[in-house]
Amino acid sequence: MSRLLFWLALAVLVVFAVRAKIRAARERVDRAEHGAPPAATDANGATGASAPIESMTSCAHCSLYFPASEAVRADGLDYCCPAHVRLPAK
Ligand SMILES: [Zn+2]
Repeated sequence: MSRLLFWLALAVLVVFAVRAKIRAARERVDRAEHGAPPAATDANGATGASAPIESMTSCAHCSLYFPASEAVRADGLDYCCPAHVRLPAK
């Protein structure tokens, strides 16, 4: 009897997993057909429709790419940290 319950529970789990997969695939197709880009969500799940795009820059010493707002600027060059300002630019 317990073996039958095990197989029944397994069958129910498989059915739910397949239905979730089908639903996800259908939503993906709907989004692609209607041309709507996938909504960007933040940590709270809210859609950030007007999320600003941040420009990137690279460090003059180590060539690391990082957001331009975090740059340390000296002599018209961008650096990733104050320590690299003191080191020679490449
Ligand atoms: Zn650097």
